[in-house]
Amino acid sequence: EGALPRPARRRVLTVANQKGGVGKTTSTVNLAAALAVHGLKTLVIDLDPQGNASTALDIDHRSGTPSIYEVLIGEVSLAEAAANSAQSPNLFCVPATIDLAGAEIELVSMANRETRLKEALSAEVLDQIGVDYVLIDCPPSLGLLTVNAMVAAQEVLIPIQCEYYALEGLGQLLSNIELVQQHLNRELSVSTILLTMYDGRTKLADQVTNEVRNHFGETVLKTVIPRSVKVSEAPGYGQTVLSYDPGSRGAMSYLDAAKELAERGANEKRSTSA
Ligand code: ADP
Ligand code: MG
Repeated sequence: EGALPRPARRRVLTVANQKGGVGKTTSTVNLAAALAVHGLKTLVIDLDPQGNASTALDIDHRSGTPSIYEVLIGEVSLAEAAANSAQSPNLFCVPATIDLAGAEIELVSMANRETRLKEALSAEVLDQIGVDYVLIDCPPSLGLLTVNAMVAAQEVLIPIQCEYYALEGLGQLLSNIELVQQHLNRELSVSTILLTMYDGRTKLADQVTNEVRNHFGETVLKTVIPRSVKVSEAPGYGQTVLSYDPGSRGAMSYLDAAKELAERGANEKRSTSA
């Protein structure tokens, strides 16, 4: 399969939206798989105690497995917790176990509570693995875990579901990103918006798509992810849709989205800030 262009420099993207069920995890694992099968070394960080990204990538995440929780509290290094996914030799994942559920509270009393993930994602460690892309799958909240993800990243990727109330809560997300920019991470920008679960049979889906494009312009990827049963079935088999049904519309659209993402990275094009 054809290779995608390597980024001008390593890209760390946080996939965030405090709304649940908008396609954060689905987009994280499928974009990561698409980048990896096209030659780019990609690391997924599962930062949601639910561990859905770990499940989709078939990475062991029973309690006690070295995971992002042990990384955040400083017990193991990121390299020790990163496991190779069977889906590609280029695809790695630091899993989340249920132990992460307590981290949001444990972190409050810790030193450098906002920067612990950034410190763990040091250039040395990432060079050691040779990572081109890091994708961080956030929980559905704007708590300390998501703040850690925003501090550790250069870019935010926001998945938006083509549904009613799609833009509700987005203002809050953007103002949180702005706060992180001002106080913790000057480099952060919203580089990418991905429209997910598009249902072409509804007028509403087109209305939402237009509204989001009018509002965010070039930041929105041209590729829209369709609602597809294959996409939702894949994690049940410990797979991404790229391995589960490579010829499906869902797989092709995530591949197209990954291409756009990689091409933007190769050109160092960063359109919008929050
Ligand atoms: P989040 O991580 O934002 O909570 P998920 O990625 O887990 O959202 O998606 C929520 C639900 O929607 C999951 O059951 C997932 O399988 C399903 N889903 C996500 N994207 C699609 C899609 N393109 N087509 C059909 N179902 C999808
Ligand atoms: Mg999720």
